[in-house]
Amino acid sequence: MPLVTMKEILVPARQNKYGVGAFEFWSLDSAQAVVEAAAEQNMPVILQAGKLECDFAGGIKNLSRIAKMVADEASIPVALHLDHAEEYDFILSAIDAGFTSVMIDASAKPYEENVALTQKVVAAAKPAGITVEAELGRLVGNEGNISVDSREAAQTDPADAKRFVEETGIDALAVAIGTVHGFYQFEPKINIERLKAIADVVSIPLVLHGGSGTPDYKVQEAIENGIAKVNICTEFVAAFGKQYTSTQSAEGFKYSIPSLFGPSKEAGKALAASKIKLFSLK
Ligand SMILES: [Zn+2]
Repeated sequence: MPLVTMKEILVPARQNKYGVGAFEFWSLDSAQAVVEAAAEQNMPVILQAGKLECDFAGGIKNLSRIAKMVADEASIPVALHLDHAEEYDFILSAIDAGFTSVMIDASAKPYEENVALTQKVVAAAKPAGITVEAELGRLVGNEGNISVDSREAAQTDPADAKRFVEETGIDALAVAIGTVHGFYQFEPKINIERLKAIADVVSIPLVLHGGSGTPDYKVQEAIENGIAKVNICTEFVAAFGKQYTSTQSAEGFKYSIPSLFGPSKEAGKALAASKIKLFSLK
């Protein structure tokens, strides 16, 4: 079926307390791995890409073409989302290229500037029927070309979150509740009490970034308490990468396209399938 908006996927998820996986993709085989895994469980899914993936693929339009092609063949709803965009013009190029959802990440800016830039994005996206995700609070770690250390980190304030959603008219809110971008160097302390306080006053779907490596029971607890979208990037990429290494080092390995790339696609699909299953469990 044609690409759908992220809002169409996330509103029922929040209402019915299940989570939807949002996976970073960069190629045809990574997109197929995600969508095939979701289709086998009859769950909706989100393909997302940030600036690095768009550049890697030779431009944002190439990823849009890939996503449309894979979604058209799929039996489940698929949304195409721009992850962590900081530039207004880049967001316009994503809308122009056919993305059905965009994230404006102005969370590094002071509150009022975050509101102003997010409002500008909503004004451009809403008339075109595009979903907007924004972020309030700062996550520790690296994602794409964004790097935040612990001195800059700040968890989302519930009262600010309520005001932010009302002032901007966004469709989904990324919250900082203790997760970290990339793999953890230590056991994260996910602040479920803070999440509950945010979910009490914000009714739109909430988004958990830094989902890679978060303990399963913590992710499920977060989904029970308002998280509708869970971003998975590092673990998905690592599934491909680790498999390339072990495939090539196996005895008797001979190079061919399917013998090298096939197992990695399967490993990526298996990782996506395990996450989709985890997020959909009650
Ligand atoms: Zn993120």
